[in-house]
Amino acid sequence: MEIQNERMPDRNKWPINIEEKPFKNHQPLVVEAGSKVEVPAQAIIPRTDFKNMLQALPADGTGRRRVCFVTLGCKVNQYETEAMRELFLADGYVEASPHQVSDIYVVNTCTVTNVAAKKSRQMLARGKKKNPACVVIAVGCYVQREHQKLKEMMGVDILIGNHRKKDILTILDEFYQSREIIDVVEEGYNKPSYEDLKITRRHDKTRATIKIQDGCNQFCSYCIIPFARGKVRSRRPGMVIEEISGLVQQGYQEFVITGIHLTSYGIDFSEKVSLIDLLEEIDKVPGVKRLRLGSLEPRLITEEFAKRISRLKSICPHFHLSLQSGSNGVLSRMNRRYCTQDFARGVELLRQVFAHPAITTDVIVGFPGETEEEFAESLNFVKNINFADLHVFKYSKREGTKAAQMQGQVAETVKNERSAKMIAIGEGCKQNYRQHFIEKEAEVLLEESVEINGQRHMIGHTREYIKVYWPTDQDQSSQDKILTLKEIYLDGMTAEKN
Ligand code: SF4
Repeated sequence: MEIQNERMPDRNKWPINIEEKPFKNHQPLVVEAGSKVEVPAQAIIPRTDFKNMLQALPADGTGRRRVCFVTLGCKVNQYETEAMRELFLADGYVEASPHQVSDIYVVNTCTVTNVAAKKSRQMLARGKKKNPACVVIAVGCYVQREHQKLKEMMGVDILIGNHRKKDILTILDEFYQSREIIDVVEEGYNKPSYEDLKITRRHDKTRATIKIQDGCNQFCSYCIIPFARGKVRSRRPGMVIEEISGLVQQGYQEFVITGIHLTSYGIDFSEKVSLIDLLEEIDKVPGVKRLRLGSLEPRLITEEFAKRISRLKSICPHFHLSLQSGSNGVLSRMNRRYCTQDFARGVELLRQVFAHPAITTDVIVGFPGETEEEFAESLNFVKNINFADLHVFKYSKREGTKAAQMQGQVAETVKNERSAKMIAIGEGCKQNYRQHFIEKEAEVLLEESVEINGQRHMIGHTREYIKVYWPTDQDQSSQDKILTLKEIYLDGMTAEKN
């Protein structure tokens, strides 16, 4: 699975473990895929506190209901929230910010770590505190895993897992009529098909995220995601092209291709369509200037893949190859399906076909049983690859995974030491990478104008995803420029003054 922040592909956050409060068990309501939302009588939990909910009109006097969105987790979640936002706005709702009072709160939850799950619960509790008459809709991975517990939580009115987000308005209508808790979580790993949510616009006017795939069949021993997202389902190429073409018409130039496990794209189709086939089609869409990819597995990078991808005019030389550990022993316990030799070969192939590509990665330190020798191997491997950027996570137990049951859990103090050492290596690599671009020209896609220390700057990114601060008074958002990069600055580099 993908990304948590603006720094691009970064999938797994491993913060410290937090004890979860126990909930009582309830029977789940299972709804057939594709069926209309019908709530069996035994699944309805009577509510008395919403009898007058329909009278709760917005305070702004417009007569339109307000909806507020809160998104936790990865880029896939962000994309899905965007798609739900469009559905609500098209239906006449107005959007409220999380600081405003709203009539509907949609919380797109995350369960990748225990901390993410805890945050999801906190966000769900907030809606009713702000407006006791509001409707709280819990959506996504945490709901998929824990909907029975959530039904016990005061203030959650509608529970939608990972397969009925596109029906959110119909489900809400059902709630308006019944005023009873609705739970439409479909259980089980084998979900029928890709749920075709789509977006036609984004707030960020230059870059749009496109989801092309859902689910994962890998079952890495530390990861809960396959249980929350189900098996691999890929989106039909025609739908992807249609969405991107529409966004190009709106002025978007850069597309970030994302999914839960991109490397598996197409394995569920009867005909042979792989990720590179899809990328070649996207590259042909007029107006697509830049194409970036979310997290990839090294075994995807074969000679043929490298050759074909290097021929795409829009592809950015910026690849996030998921490493997780530079020790083969640890990789095997993680149930990752590659070894460090495969990884190094993938990097070499990309470096053969692109000039100075940005290769970034994630590393977990303190995985159960990680010995000093294994950590040293991991450190050396990372040093030798010389990544452009590195995201380091301390292993944190996720209940329900194999790794949580493993012997040899590493002490927190050891994890802290290892994390500090790995981060220091990563910082050095990052500096080296940017150093290479000093006094070199780069194409920068300009995104926004900001003021820093009294001077206006345009901020943008190079094709390698280096953030560039260009001192200029002119707002040139959405334009691309060839700029000379001058020095390392904050989290990026400066460009020559205009
Ligand atoms: S199981 Fe492995 S490959 Fe699948 S989402 Fe989790 S970490 Fe990624």
